Amino acid sequence: MIISIASGKGGTGKTTVAVNLALSMDTQVQFLDCDVEEPNAHLFLHPVLNEPKIVTTPVPWIDENRCNLCGKCAEICQFKAIVVIGKTVLPFHELCHSCGGCMEVCPEKAITETGRELGLIERGHRNGLEFVHGRLRVGEAMSPPLIKEVRSYTRPDILTIIDAPPGTSCPVIASMNGADFVLLVTEPTPFGLYDLKLAVGAVKILGIPCGLIINRSDMGDDKVKAYAKQEDLPILMEIPFDRRIAEAYSRGEILVEVMPEWKEKFKTLFRRIQGIVSGRTG
Ligand code: SF4
Ligand code: SF4
Repeated sequence: MIISIASGKGGTGKTTVAVNLALSMDTQVQFLDCDVEEPNAHLFLHPVLNEPKIVTTPVPWIDENRCNLCGKCAEICQFKAIVVIGKTVLPFHELCHSCGGCMEVCPEKAITETGRELGLIERGHRNGLEFVHGRLRVGEAMSPPLIKEVRSYTRPDILTIIDAPPGTSCPVIASMNGADFVLLVTEPTPFGLYDLKLAVGAVKILGIPCGLIINRSDMGDDKVKAYAKQEDLPILMEIPFDRRIAEAYSRGEILVEVMPEWKEKFKTLFRRIQGIVSGRTG
């Protein structure tokens, strides 16, 4: 099963939930940190990491001796990533989406592939937990290809927990697509509710069952709960504001290790998710 843990808004406790759920399981688990712009699960899990692997994406390289300046490559590019200026064809690699269109249409076969570095993949383990995360290169704008690379390590035979980036844009979709369940972590504030509605809209388009975790549930107002009722979204766990939880987080400690009574709550959370997923597939 693949559980993707997301949140419309940053700072809701998404990584805390993902890490604690992973460490509460008695079975083998794989943890994929797909928040490649700012991966932080390793700061809590402290996995032993192997050699990093550099990930690249193909971008065009022009052979000026072959090019006849026909402009067909610039015409087909929807991203203005290749232009003909005077007697030069200029590719802008940072804008290129690696669709390969320019290479296909070039009548002179003047375009070949070179690589643009997207970032790194690091794999490792913490006891029995398999760990993979991506680190987007500083300055790189396109994270979905790197997220897809992280997800390519998904093992179908064990539980996979994905820590998705915050928000509702392409990187989040790349982290949720194909999951069996999306767990949305939110907080009972107007900002939390606003971003939750956007996240629920995205999950509904993907057709994936989802449920909520309300963090700092005893603060704010009841509007998130009213919204959940209206949309028939199960609230699978509530985490109250607790100074001990906040202190553990600020020290990079893991909740289920500092307060072991939470382990059973995360196991119950998983059983509830299993029930929803199996009810749906059944
Ligand atoms: S590969 Fe696609 S996006 Fe990149 S320059 Fe060529 S046509 Fe444009
Ligand atoms: S399509 Fe090929 S030949 Fe035409 S301008 Fe582009 S690189 Fe040159």
